[in-house]
Amino acid sequence: MSRAFVKETFEALASQLADVGRHCYERGWALGTSGNFSAVVRKEPLTLAITTSGVDKGLLESRHIVAIDAHGRMLQGSGTPSAEAMLHLAIVRSRGAGAVLHTHSVWGTILSEATADGADSLTIEGYEMLKGLAGVDTHEHRERVPIVENTQNWTAAAPRIETILREHPEAHGFLIRGHGLYTWGKDLAEAKRQIEILEFLFEVMGRKRGLAWQL
Ligand SMILES: [Zn+2]
Repeated sequence: MSRAFVKETFEALASQLADVGRHCYERGWALGTSGNFSAVVRKEPLTLAITTSGVDKGLLESRHIVAIDAHGRMLQGSGTPSAEAMLHLAIVRSRGAGAVLHTHSVWGTILSEATADGADSLTIEGYEMLKGLAGVDTHEHRERVPIVENTQNWTAAAPRIETILREHPEAHGFLIRGHGLYTWGKDLAEAKRQIEILEFLFEVMGRKRGLAWQL
């Protein structure tokens, strides 16, 4: 892959990531500086385009996207890569993902705590919208969304997340308790579709249950 091609790919992905980020902000899924978004520029050696930390997602632009390597080191751009960059890299490694999207929505946050007995996953089944998830072709699909504990040190927690992803090879995303959703796709278009599907399903489940789950 030539240098010019990598630069062009990075610039195109940076622009698409900014569009996806503003879309998530507009939907109320990534308010303020919350949420972060990434896409693989090239696999070998791994180069990831990712949002920088501290940027208002409603004002996200291409210049807020940087390129990092497999160890989270900056390759291009200015700013600090997202604090959750190591988590994005863990998902890319363990899932072969081409893009990773992370939101902090109201319904994702509520449902991440909806398992009163401390269960480590949320089950979604019976909805037509499940068919928007990659490889799912019937509403009879049962989606198990793992719920992992929150932390402020994702560098240390990344191996734990990789283990959970290996234990749930069929999962299309996971929730971090009291925090938000991670999903991914073979490319940015698939990841965007999945974030819309999962956020839709969380809202449906949340509205349907009301506060009953607290009992
Ligand atoms: Zn987050």
